[in-house]
Amino acid sequence: MKIGIIGGGASGMAAAITASSLGAAVTILEKKERVGSKILATGNGKCNLSNQQIGPDCYHSEDPSLIASILERFSVREVLDFFQALGLMVRVRNGGFYPACEQASAVLDVLRFALARGGIAVETGCLAVHAACQQGTFLVHTEGMAGKRVFSFDRLILACGSSAGLGTKEADNGLKLAGEFSLKRIPFSPALVQLCCRETCCRAMAGVRCQAEVTLRAAGTDYREQGEVQMTDYGISGIPVFQISRHASAALKQQRELAVFLDFLPGMETGSWQELLKDRVRTLGQESAERFFTGTVHKKIIAVILKECGISPGEIIRHIPQEKLTAAGEKIKHFPLTVTGTNPFSKAQVCAGGVRLSEVTGNLEAKGCKGLYITGELLDADGRCGGYNLHWAWATGVLAGRAAAEERPARQAGRERFHRP
Ligand SMILES: Cc1cc2nc3c(=O)[nH]c(=O)nc-3n(C[C@H](O)[C@H](O)[C@H](O)COP(=O)(O)OP(=O)(O)OC[C@H]3O[C@@H](n4cnc5c(N)ncnc54)[C@H](O)[C@@H]3O)c2cc1C
Repeated sequence: MKIGIIGGGASGMAAAITASSLGAAVTILEKKERVGSKILATGNGKCNLSNQQIGPDCYHSEDPSLIASILERFSVREVLDFFQALGLMVRVRNGGFYPACEQASAVLDVLRFALARGGIAVETGCLAVHAACQQGTFLVHTEGMAGKRVFSFDRLILACGSSAGLGTKEADNGLKLAGEFSLKRIPFSPALVQLCCRETCCRAMAGVRCQAEVTLRAAGTDYREQGEVQMTDYGISGIPVFQISRHASAALKQQRELAVFLDFLPGMETGSWQELLKDRVRTLGQESAERFFTGTVHKKIIAVILKECGISPGEIIRHIPQEKLTAAGEKIKHFPLTVTGTNPFSKAQVCAGGVRLSEVTGNLEAKGCKGLYITGELLDADGRCGGYNLHWAWATGVLAGRAAAEERPARQAGRERFHRP
């Protein structure tokens, strides 16, 4: 059984190691000079490789029905077993699984060592530009350091990932290759990405990192996430912003602008905050506005809110008209921004879109093309931030690698039928 894998990323390597352990002759075709380079950037260099909370609700897809069965067949236990077998010690921190040494490079190293142990051929600097299936044999045309070549395989796994994290010069062609097999696809859009906002006040708050609840209003629905938000000169970033970004990305295809609201006191009910403000007016009414708000939220945020409400920092609280003070208090709980776009693909951690899940079986085999498998981010499934996307890559890679190695080549099965008495 000769298996070709286009893409030496997380899912491609997981597929290769699994298929080779079942006796298949595996070749990885990787366009970059090294396999798994994206893994090095994951989890801020620490690689958040899975999560205790893995479940279908943590993923988005146009056809989500397959996700639950994939996760059932490849749960957290299987990910931990997979890495334990490779020699990686794994630790849990805040629900996320990381290599015990906290180095993403260790995850890549154990995968690379396993590729070498399994005798897996790795062709780097080898860009697959065209693939087709002729009478049960897959032909892959490549270009790269060794010139133009054609590889032939009994099984082919497309593990090309998405456009996330890539510069514009590296436009990804995984969707194009999938299109050559007539698979239905959804164009990629950035997900787990920063949001760009119209308001110039963002610049004045740039550098602030604070706990906040972010509410995105998109297509009549409010999406809420809480956590550390980072204010930047172009807009907002941080994990809660990443979590809602795929909804923004989708809605921005229909609408030019979206409303987002920041609650800078996320643990406090609006009523309690109003009561507290009244109390503070009683006790600190003689202070300047700047001093009055000191100790509530970050001082750069206070400065922006005072300016927006027409209050000068030196103004004495008792002399400020009530409606202005109320407006300032409201803005701390409900700070409006206008989202005009997301950062580009190069800044995104994953992409929404990909090959429709309805195009593949539970073994990730293309329904319309026997022997062709699709894995990882090239599929239309994107997870939340926190190890869910790598889990998906390992799960789909292992399941596809197993299925591809276990089934006999179509040509061989055909011949056997022909010779049978
Ligand atoms: C900065 C950053 C941080 C991240 N952090 C995390 C995290 O902590 N936890 C988490 O779960 N997820 C994280 N992710 C997401 C995660 O890395 C991906 O979801 C995962 O790597 C997808 O695996 P994949 O195998 O589908 O694709 P990839 O890992 O992207 O691999 C695809 C491979 O295919 C190659 N390729 C593409 N087209 C061709 C072609 N035509 N010919 C030959 N080779 C080709 C590419 O060069 C690449 O090596 C992060 C992503 C980024 C960008």
